[in-house]
Amino acid sequence: MLVIESVDGLIRAMDGNHSGAAGSPGPVVGLVPTMGALHAGHLSLVSGARRQCGLVVMTAFVNPLQFGSTEDLADYPRDPAGDRAQAEAGGVDVLFVPSAEEMYPEPPLASVSVARLGQVLEGARRPGHFDGVATVVAKLLNLVGPCRCYLGEKDYQQLLVVRRLVADLNFPVEVVSCPVVRDADGLALSSRNRRLNASQRSAAPVLYQALMAGKLLLLEGRAQRRMTEYLIAEVVRSEPLAELEYAAVVADGTLDPAPSPLSGSIRLLGAARIGPVRLIDNLGVTLP
Ligand code: AMP
Repeated sequence: MLVIESVDGLIRAMDGNHSGAAGSPGPVVGLVPTMGALHAGHLSLVSGARRQCGLVVMTAFVNPLQFGSTEDLADYPRDPAGDRAQAEAGGVDVLFVPSAEEMYPEPPLASVSVARLGQVLEGARRPGHFDGVATVVAKLLNLVGPCRCYLGEKDYQQLLVVRRLVADLNFPVEVVSCPVVRDADGLALSSRNRRLNASQRSAAPVLYQALMAGKLLLLEGRAQRRMTEYLIAEVVRSEPLAELEYAAVVADGTLDPAPSPLSGSIRLLGAARIGPVRLIDNLGVTLP
């Protein structure tokens, strides 16, 4: 595995790959963008990329642009040695681990934002977050020039934002989404889970349980949006260590509140704070 820290080094490495010998096409390139502190969720994206691509590029970069001034940038888990070992064992060919100074030698004057989709739910609670995400993803797509980009459904709104970024700006890349990887008790794997203490970790599956309760209510066919959101909120509130941020039942794809009567593809999303960690999760359901 090639480990690259500089933008120039990455450009050189990718140039060599895109133009194969004697003008023959280079391999299919798969990009797996991450913020490092790798876990099995990240590695599931690598497996997907490994199956479909000849060259797998992972980036591990804690992007300061997507953190608000009151957020956990300084406390975000970092594990460079563990990342290298796991990326190599998972089959990554090129690991790009730039510093913040390397990615942003000065504060960018040009940036990307995704209106509306980037401003509701997570975007409403984290102003500027998705502008930061869209900007770094645009930079990484330009640097790596991948054919496919692998993203997890764990960050569902991020997935939709990147899909719109790619469609609206015509990045020649296919966005491939991968299912949420969970612990046995349902908690979605997340780098931030490392910061939960034992009692917080035992409380953390409540968000998944709440979303499951909402999904089951919808599948019974009697509840509409508000009642389902109320149930999700109540289940989260039943856990004393959890503080609900939002519970939303939305039309899949647009994230608009799902209109009644509910039908088709619906997404249930929630966010809750447990101790120092903000958890997010989501589930999809298809109704007749
Ligand atoms: P992060 O390092 O948290 O920014 O995540 C990098 C990528 O991994 C994003 O596309 C995430 O959606 C994805 N990811 C993170 N956690 C999981 C998970 N538990 N299951 C599937 N994908 C995940």
